[in-house]
Amino acid sequence: MNKALIRLSLLLFFMSSCENKPETVHQIDLELYQKAYDIFKEQSIDSRRFKYDEVIHLVKDRKGIFETVEIGQSVQKKAVYQMTTGKGSTKVLLWSQMHGNESTATMALFDLMNFLEGSADEFDTIRSKILQNLQVRIIPMVNPDGMDLWIRRNALSIDLNRDAVALSSPEAKILKQARDSFEPAFGFNLHDQQTYYNVNQTNKPATISVLAPAFNYQTEVNEVRKKAMQVIIGMDEALQKMIPGQVGKYNDAFEPRAFGDNFQKWGTSTILIESGGLINDPEKQEIRKLNFLAILHALLLIADESYRDYVLDDYYTIPDNDLKLMDLLIKNIALEKEGMTYRTDIGIKRREVDTSYDYYVNGAIDDIGDLSVFYGYEEIDATDMKVVEGKVFPTYFENMDNLTHERVTELLRAGYLAVKVKHVTTESSLHKLPIQVLNQTYELATNISLGATANFFLQKDDQLKYAVINGYLINLESVSMNDFKMKIY
Ligand SMILES: [Zn+2]
Repeated sequence: MNKALIRLSLLLFFMSSCENKPETVHQIDLELYQKAYDIFKEQSIDSRRFKYDEVIHLVKDRKGIFETVEIGQSVQKKAVYQMTTGKGSTKVLLWSQMHGNESTATMALFDLMNFLEGSADEFDTIRSKILQNLQVRIIPMVNPDGMDLWIRRNALSIDLNRDAVALSSPEAKILKQARDSFEPAFGFNLHDQQTYYNVNQTNKPATISVLAPAFNYQTEVNEVRKKAMQVIIGMDEALQKMIPGQVGKYNDAFEPRAFGDNFQKWGTSTILIESGGLINDPEKQEIRKLNFLAILHALLLIADESYRDYVLDDYYTIPDNDLKLMDLLIKNIALEKEGMTYRTDIGIKRREVDTSYDYYVNGAIDDIGDLSVFYGYEEIDATDMKVVEGKVFPTYFENMDNLTHERVTELLRAGYLAVKVKHVTTESSLHKLPIQVLNQTYELATNISLGATANFFLQKDDQLKYAVINGYLINLESVSMNDFKMKIY
């Protein structure tokens, strides 16, 4: 082939592939969506562990375009409500927090309700497109008891998402009844997933995961599931503009007891959204915004039926989720143990531990060995460093006030990772300093082994470079005092 012919055929190839894959089927006006979020964000919520009593007024006292109806009560007699708006013929049901400790989407639904209630502004076109074409029904907080206990399950210890068929819990019955009486064309099943999910073979967290759940073991695609997949392609397109490479596809293995799978089977095109992790967003306020934007965009795609233009193949190109993230990955560090010195990787996860009023973090060693298939939210190449044990400062501190930024920095640099305090006057047993605080009798274990709390130093030549305190990595050159979630032992 001569050069001109090659050029021509390449040109034709690119033209045809462009034709098959329009970049945007639906106009994505992210700037407008973001503006809408900033204006209509529910300001009374700014963290994710809110209680039922703190927010239920946002549901039952809501007047105006929403018709609010109590549709049942939880095991512990908390009312569950549905809120309906819109005059359209296409019915959409969105429900959240079926798992009590998964509240990200609930926040976004409050934001969405505020948005839909607005009027006479630059968002009227979007809003009326939704309200004229759709009937939107929202059930926020399907599991109020689990929410207050901050657990996944309900007060009977039942996982509602494995109770879609057995219906042994009142909350599952409420949700099933809500579907049967409304028979929505589309359903949004809103959850949170572990922050350790990453996008397959990348170091990026699966900040949002999506799925059109299967309706049978063969994971076949029928018209109902196809529509959910098409909406998801559009949502992914919008999300990629905000969090490129951070959307994963959840495993579609059929779970015959789950609500999403059964909604799909019962004829509702069902879209699962899982909120995962995002660096520097422990309270998931950025992810809440992503939920708002993705759901709003999806409602528009459904309202004008433009989702139908998406080609199914594009659903399968959304990368899969994997579970390979850790909070901190220390690579190729020298360790001394059992009289041996060896180089290896240490992986650390900081798990949340609940107290009755708050939570703290337990940063523990999750794995030791060749961790080259894992990724870290924070990673450090420790090829020229070794692990050094830390010390407990021998003199008691009178109280917490003596632990200033300067003093803590000095102590860390001198190789102390814990202090003992005589009088702990803070109301709770929590603190925010990057040092372990012990009461007078507590003995701190400093062994490097699986499951142990990660407390040690990283040393280069004869110089301490980093402290690892309760799994947090602290650069000793500039010790920051950022909001550590620590417990006084
Ligand atoms: Zn869940």
